Amino acid sequence: MSDCLFCRIASGDIPAETIYENEQVLAFRDINPQAKAHALIIPKKHLDSLNDLNQTEDGLLAGLLRAAQDVAKALGIDQSGYRLVSNCGPDARQSVHHLHFHVLGGETLSDRMV
Ligand code: 5GP
Ligand code: ZN
Repeated sequence: MSDCLFCRIASGDIPAETIYENEQVLAFRDINPQAKAHALIIPKKHLDSLNDLNQTEDGLLAGLLRAAQDVAKALGIDQSGYRLVSNCGPDARQSVHHLHFHVLGGETLSDRMV
């Protein structure tokens, strides 16, 4: 999808600071970090949100979660701790409609989830 920001990042069309990459997924630094360490993990293939993941994509879902471990290690926050968040839909204020997980850490995060 050429009009999708994260598809354009995945294709290299728009630059981003890559943290981790494999065949299925790409992780890069968030342009507007909400914590000292803030990365985004996306599937290279376009899916709008978590709602688009069906059973045939369980492998991709596992790959995204597995990548969170690699990203946390690469950011040096795997032992200090991190939070994994995926905003889905309007109430969650999803602003980029390409499935992504936020990896947040590098400091003690708010005790509020919302
Ligand atoms: P959402 O609100 O959809 O859960 O998260 C979208 C995230 O994408 C936001 O945290 C925002 O800062 C990040 N973002 C938006 N545009 C860009 C961009 O061009 N490059 C990068 N690296 N991050 C972006
Ligand atoms: Zn996309």
